[in-house]
Amino acid sequence: MSGVRPATPVATESLCAAIGRTPLVRVRGLSKETGCGIFAKAEFMNPGGSAKDRVALALIEDARRSGALRSGGVIVEATAGNTGAGLAWIGRALGHRCLLVVPDGVSQGKVDHLLALGAEVRQVPDRAADHPGNYVAEARRLAESLPGGWWANQFDNPANREAHRLGTGPEIWTQTKGRVTDFVASVGTGGTLAGVGLALKERDPSIRVHCAEPAGAVVWSWVKDGRVESTPGSSIVEGIGQSRITANLAALKPDDAHLITDEEAVLMLQRVLREEGLFLGLSSAFNLCAARRVALEAGPGRVIVTVLCDGGGRYLQTVHNPAWLRAHGLPAGEAA
Ligand code: PMP
Repeated sequence: MSGVRPATPVATESLCAAIGRTPLVRVRGLSKETGCGIFAKAEFMNPGGSAKDRVALALIEDARRSGALRSGGVIVEATAGNTGAGLAWIGRALGHRCLLVVPDGVSQGKVDHLLALGAEVRQVPDRAADHPGNYVAEARRLAESLPGGWWANQFDNPANREAHRLGTGPEIWTQTKGRVTDFVASVGTGGTLAGVGLALKERDPSIRVHCAEPAGAVVWSWVKDGRVESTPGSSIVEGIGQSRITANLAALKPDDAHLITDEEAVLMLQRVLREEGLFLGLSSAFNLCAARRVALEAGPGRVIVTVLCDGGGRYLQTVHNPAWLRAHGLPAGEAA
């Protein structure tokens, strides 16, 4: 199994041509420990540094095809995360302004990153998800009121899931030569889990799909007994841990879900850097913890694939900072 990125044969019109076709890496230490093949899709190798490049491109292309986003139109979305970064640079590459709505309280580092990528950022008061002035509702309203405005709506726009059903999923199938038995992903929008999961089940219905879940989110209880209820506690992880069943996720209920603590994930983050040289964001470590648990529960011989959504460079002030880890009561690692 290899994940060699094919050389781009000719010059391209934009870096969008380099999105996708990411390497699939065997995680040697976890594979040896469990007797399974544990493989990770290096989505942090997309040009903008995360899996969300695929999603941003798919959302924009779909809206341009349908006419919802016109030539020179303005992309509007509610996000301070990876989707914002993807929409910002891909928007610029394709000739669109990008306006991102973020709640007060988002770190200045994140806002600076989006501004540096050429996005405009509008900060609004941090209000509950069901409040009409919530930042997602604000983004929608803003898009409707702006001439040429288009709301990307990553949580419920199925073009998000389709990016993974048509891209990431088939790549995993090919890169494992159809031997994959389990797929593990955490849920933010649910696009990765549902999109890849559908692609794999279309090819082999016996493939099992698992959710890696932090504390304080609802997918675990939805999978285990059908109730949409948060588990107790909360998590410091960014980008995952959902409080509702989004339209993207509703397309595929996972076969199983695994609760992972912040402490387990931080230890895994440090382990794979030490053992494999993988420098990752924390959501990737949640995925690897769940992949290991699936392997230990199912026994040797499974071929388990998961996703490394983004790299560690975005988290130098947080989960890769020993002082920050100590201040949050988390293991600070060997180098501390
Ligand atoms: N990890 C990180 C760092 C993310 O930003 C996201 C997206 N919010 C995810 C994982 C989850 O991906 P998805 O939205 O496809 O569920």
